[in-house]
Order: sequence, then structure tokens, then C-alpha cells
Amino acid sequence: VEFEHCGFPEALSHNLKKSGYEVPTPIQMQMIPVGLQGRDILASADTGSGKTAAFLLPVIIRALFEDRSPSALILTPTRELAIQIERQAKELMSGLPHMKTVLLVGGLPLPPQLYRLRQRVKVIIATPGRLLDIIKQSAVELCSVKIVVVDEADTMLKMGFQQQVLDILENVPNDCQTILVSATIPTSMEQLASQLLQNPVRIST
Ligand code: AMP
Repeated sequence: VEFEHCGFPEALSHNLKKSGYEVPTPIQMQMIPVGLQGRDILASADTGSGKTAAFLLPVIIRALFEDRSPSALILTPTRELAIQIERQAKELMSGLPHMKTVLLVGGLPLPPQLYRLRQRVKVIIATPGRLLDIIKQSAVELCSVKIVVVDEADTMLKMGFQQQVLDILENVPNDCQTILVSATIPTSMEQLASQLLQNPVRIST
């Protein structure tokens, strides 16, 4: 299998090639078709496995065919990870119509983030604390979100973000597709998964 033959929108195929992605990694091979079916996913995947593109491709394709914004939300524990995810998202989304992203992360000034948020962004990439602040200020509406990713969920738990993640996800529709990605799946992660996911497909490499 090669990305070229996946039937993705042409600009996306072009961007994958330009980024040097020709053949999907094992986690991508498993996650992309299931993600595109709209199923919830519990994925065990390490950094370096290609997990970011494995969730970004379903996110991008879903968001591309949704009119309302925001249509996708990616939660990640740290600012650095959020920046890396946005960089990869922008590479993959280049040339696709109406596909803006916003970073809502702590440690950077809030006003530019709020300004950007008002520009009909399709994909929000956020850390929990900052996003929750913005929700509490009623400066974001998440009722149009169709797909949520919780990345590095084990780190989220270690950093004590569990309640914040649950509080944020109270604001997305009940039937939202949810993808949970974690390096390991201990009992605490099974519990979080049972709170967030409906009939998930379990994926590991
Ligand atoms: P990640 O596990 O998401 O942190 O990705 C690890 C690295 O692999 C990143 O630098 C990606 O750009 C790269 N990468 C992801 N998927 C592929 C692929 N299918 N082919 C080549 N490189 C990839």
C-alpha cells in the first residue's frame, strides 16, 4: 500500500509525498481506515511510530468535508507537543481549502489565540488548561466538533489533567468520534477510555 493509491484528495496526496511519506507506518495502516469509518479508537502507540499523522489524516479528511467550524479538536499535554502537531497539520493541509488551525496553549499570550479563533478555524490544537480557560470565558463553542483526539493520554494522567480533559469533553456533542492515543494502556487508561469512548476499536503495534 502507498499513500498515492489511497484515494485521498489530490492536494493531500501531494503534501504527503512532499513530506516524504510514501508508505504508511504500521500504526497508520491500522488507524487511518478505522478513523475514516468514524469509529472510536483506543490506540497504544509510541512517539516515532507515526502516530501523529495516523490521527491527523482522519482529522483532516473529516474536517475537509464539514462546513461548520471548529470541526476537530486535538488535545495534547504540552505546548511543545501542540506546536509539533500543528506544524505537521499545516504541512499536510497546505493547499486544502478553508482548513485553518489554531493553537490554544498555555505559556503564550491569550489575545492572539482568541483573535485567531474567530477566523473560522477548522482544527483546534490545545492544551487542557488554556482551552478550559477559554471555554469558561465563553470565547469558544465546541458544539460543531465532530472528531476529538486525546494525544499522549498517559502523560495527561501523569500531569493530573484527567478532570480537565473530562470537563472539556462535556462541551463536545455526545456522538463525537473520539480517538485516544497513549504509549501504554494501564488500568487508569482503561477507565478513562470507558468514560470517553463508545465501542472503540483497539489498536496497537
Ligand atoms: P510521530 O510518531 O508522529 O512523532 O512521527 C515520527 C516521525 O515520523 C515524524 O517526523 C513524521 O514526520 C515521520 N513520519 C510519520 N509517518 C511517516 C511515513 N508514513 N513515512 C515517513 N515518515 C513518516
